[in-house]
Amino acid sequence: MSFNIQKIRNDFPILSRKVNGYPLVYLDNAATLQKPQLVIDAIVDYYSNYNANIHRGVHTLSQEATDAYEAARQKIQKHFNAKESHEILFTPGTTYGINLVAHVFTSELKKGDEIIVSAMEHHSNIVPWQMLCERTGAILKVIPMNEEGALIFSEYEKLLSEKTKLVFVNHISNALGTINPIAKIIEYAHKVNAAVLIDGAQSCSHIKPNFQELDVDFYVTSAHKMCGPTGIGILYMKEEWGNKLPPYQGGGEMIDQVTFEKTTYAGLPFKFEAGTPNICGGIAFGAAIDYLNNIGFDAIVAHEDELLEYATKKLLEIEGLRIYGTGPDKTSVVSFNIEGIHPYDIGTILDKLGVAVRTGHHCAQPIMDFYKIPGTVRASFAFYNTLEEVDILVEAVKKAKMMLS
Ligand code: PMP
Repeated sequence: MSFNIQKIRNDFPILSRKVNGYPLVYLDNAATLQKPQLVIDAIVDYYSNYNANIHRGVHTLSQEATDAYEAARQKIQKHFNAKESHEILFTPGTTYGINLVAHVFTSELKKGDEIIVSAMEHHSNIVPWQMLCERTGAILKVIPMNEEGALIFSEYEKLLSEKTKLVFVNHISNALGTINPIAKIIEYAHKVNAAVLIDGAQSCSHIKPNFQELDVDFYVTSAHKMCGPTGIGILYMKEEWGNKLPPYQGGGEMIDQVTFEKTTYAGLPFKFEAGTPNICGGIAFGAAIDYLNNIGFDAIVAHEDELLEYATKKLLEIEGLRIYGTGPDKTSVVSFNIEGIHPYDIGTILDKLGVAVRTGHHCAQPIMDFYKIPGTVRASFAFYNTLEEVDILVEAVKKAKMMLS
């Protein structure tokens, strides 16, 4: 499909609404992407025509729902090039996937073992690991970052040792837009036999990670960051880990045999999928992946890079404006502040003008501490944004600056 921005925008009903009397300029895509009609239709179709519980029904509706849900799993497997579809575990989202791994990894760690995080993580890729350290006596080490907002790889190399058991890093930082060198991070971790979890919450709408090529152990993401619904995501778990690690939650679906004396567990993926899953969400996630692939990731990235470059140039023309995250490997996030003005005040004025951005620490307080700031204004672009919308953002920021100075 050729990249026809107007046609793409027409796929998203929300993009034609007004906010505070102005056409909506939605630049909070790092928080969640908007949903194309095709995904909304998939949700309506499921609840209108074949809503049923899955996997254990002999009736037609249950079989149709099971087929659609499992077809979505296979679609996701193919999209990410996982070796087996049962390595794709449906979860409620990135946060849940990380907590799942952090919980089941308890049995893998002993006092004094080390686990490594990066300095630019979302809280959901920090806190579960701190809890794991409290449970096990393992030690959390941090890969530092530089002023540009890039990880210092030589420091990472120094942290790795035979004590390292697990490394967890985001693919792309939600607060800075930095794209981390995950292939190299995984390669170096594997040299010391440490496993790697990649938090792909920010990456999967921009990049199509290839799980087999990366040889990653765990990869988590959320459907809502890929034009799918909230409440659904995946945890990719390499088969050998899936077989080795214990289940997370007990309940229906995850068992083989249950007696009061002993329960045996189902195989992958069901071992980690206790309870009735988000059936509709899984199906709609599959539809979202089809939608993105139909546009094509090369076209998406080319357009977003153009938006990023243009927005960076135009915003930097504003006196006193500083952008955080200035390294060369970056995706379409512009995190900035204007000297002497609180980011929240800028965000509030932008909203009055119909421009949706995020302000604050973006669930990444250590990054804010690093730069010694309370937060930033974050404009994050998606493939459906336009250069005209960047102009509107820039004019709105200028207006906010004038009003607040
Ligand atoms: N990690 C990163 C890098 C994120 O951007 C987010 C969402 N802002 C998360 C984790 C958490 O994702 P979710 O809230 O969908 O679980």
